[in-house]
Amino acid sequence: MSNRLSRRKFLGNASALAAMPGSWGLLGVPAGSAFLLGEGESASSKTADRIVDLHVHFDEKNPKFIGDLLKLSDRLNLTACLLTPFANRKVVAEAAKQHPKQIIPFGFVDLDAPDVVKQVEELHAMGYRGLGELEFVKKPYNDPSYFPVYELANRYDWIVLFHTGIVLRKNFDAPEDVASGRMRPIYLEEIARRFPKITVLGAHCGNPEYEWAAEIARWNPNVFFDLSGSSLTKMQGRLAEFQKIFWWSATEWHSAEWTVKTPNNDPSAFIKIVFGSDVGLDEIESVVNQYRALFDACGVPERTRRMIMGGTLAQMLGLPD
Ligand SMILES: [Zn+2]
Repeated sequence: MSNRLSRRKFLGNASALAAMPGSWGLLGVPAGSAFLLGEGESASSKTADRIVDLHVHFDEKNPKFIGDLLKLSDRLNLTACLLTPFANRKVVAEAAKQHPKQIIPFGFVDLDAPDVVKQVEELHAMGYRGLGELEFVKKPYNDPSYFPVYELANRYDWIVLFHTGIVLRKNFDAPEDVASGRMRPIYLEEIARRFPKITVLGAHCGNPEYEWAAEIARWNPNVFFDLSGSSLTKMQGRLAEFQKIFWWSATEWHSAEWTVKTPNNDPSAFIKIVFGSDVGLDEIESVVNQYRALFDACGVPERTRRMIMGGTLAQMLGLPD
């Protein structure tokens, strides 16, 4: 989604979110610490506690955005996949070259634009690492007219982030050609299978179609979801229910695990989730705390928490240690 700053306010979530860090504080976790480290592990390990945020939208209205992001990145030990409108591609490509550990450029394109294939080729030539967030499509994601873009992404071994599930309404007075039904998580299954070299990432875990999202991730090694958006607020009193959706921990009922260099053999079903915030810079830390509350409610193992918060994306992107 675009318009991130307005979204949570629009949904009235800000006060609920503000309450999260305090409740987490009762568990003895300092607000600024990136992870709970297990016994015998060094808190000085910058790599182990790095957060990789899949879902940071470039804010073209803030002229200091890159500087603000770099400051936050230093404070939280955070790498941002920066979802960049095509019009802003140059400034972000330049910033990513200067700060390769902090900014990973992703290109936001309109799948229905007549020159979208050319745009994608240009983004690749500029060093972009993937596409996203794809959204507001005129046809369902699996429409063959979008295949030329997916074919390129497949050739580039790219990560592609799709909005999935419910989408807010921006305009109340004029007709809009926008429908959540074109962005259902079930469409990602076909894309993942037809284009197996794309790493397919679904934003918002298909809200509210969590079950479809999880089941598709379960049988497709190249499909993952983030839990950005309103879900962790909606579910804050019943976060343990996510164990029923990500149910196959320590069973054989799943595909081989996604891996690049290191086989993870992580038995937790939650390994199919990655961290994404989809909020303004000043709210990212509160989303980190929401993920931690989820981990706690669902008993997510320490090793899996680290993979969700950064390890998996760091491997996908080949981030330097
Ligand atoms: Zn979205």
